[in-house]
Amino acid sequence: MKRRIRNNYIRKILGIVIVLILLSGIGVLAVNIKFEDVKIQLQNGYEMTVLTNSKKVADILEENNIILEEDEKVTPDLEEEIKPGTTIKITNKSAQEIQVAKISEEGVETSIDELLESYAPIIEKIITEQEPIPFETITKATVEGTTDTTNKVVQEGQEGIKQVTYKVKYQNEEEIERTVLSEEIIKEPVNKIVQVDKKVTSRAAVTPRTAPVTGGEMYVVTAYCGCSRCCGKSTGITASGNRAIQGVTVAAPSKFAFGTKLNIGGNIYTVQDRGGAIKGNRIDIYFSSHAAALAWGRRTLPVSVVQ
Ligand SMILES: [Zn+2]
Repeated sequence: MKRRIRNNYIRKILGIVIVLILLSGIGVLAVNIKFEDVKIQLQNGYEMTVLTNSKKVADILEENNIILEEDEKVTPDLEEEIKPGTTIKITNKSAQEIQVAKISEEGVETSIDELLESYAPIIEKIITEQEPIPFETITKATVEGTTDTTNKVVQEGQEGIKQVTYKVKYQNEEEIERTVLSEEIIKEPVNKIVQVDKKVTSRAAVTPRTAPVTGGEMYVVTAYCGCSRCCGKSTGITASGNRAIQGVTVAAPSKFAFGTKLNIGGNIYTVQDRGGAIKGNRIDIYFSSHAAALAWGRRTLPVSVVQ
């Protein structure tokens, strides 16, 4: 191996000598052909300047009898053409790896991959993209008294458009990082508006009719809603067949016929429902939400039949 390098070195020197001899011999010819000064830097740091009329790196090296060893590389590449003032550099392929290894030994907490990666330049670009803004769907309760408009789309939704400016970092032509610099809304989205089921509206709260409290018997008055926790089913249909309405519907013992109006603590309700636990002096007031039923809790109130 040592011997080969030595031979190579001698060959390189020989090359220079041959070029010099040739140059002195064809001095007249040189006037008509454009010769260029090209610097060649060898791996050992030796620099030589050669005169050539070749452009291709491979040709220039060949002219000068410079043969690349397996572990050597040349810049610019062998197939490239040199521009005036270019230095052709021959370096050791493993030089970079040795350098990395040295840094690692010194305890720098960086992986070899990362270090090698960092040799690839990072290119930053500012790019602007247009992106859709999704629309929202909002529901509107049907106005009481309108004709059947179950889940009717009142207004179609439309996506908006925003222009986003990013700072994008590329390495080896691959995106490695993206940061939003600014956002500008070009077109606001249009909400989709849906009119909800009319039946839901009919179940909405009604303020109970009030009346003066006229004595009556004391009852334990609890509350329930149409959910499965309260009823074990969730149809919203009462034992009387009516749809339960907050502010109207109560479940009462069977001694009160369906339709009976009860004054419960000054509010008038209608007996429309029954319940397994609603026996004796127990009444259950219907609420349209479980939260409202919980909020009512358990109250003891005077109850009388409204004639
Ligand atoms: Zn409930």
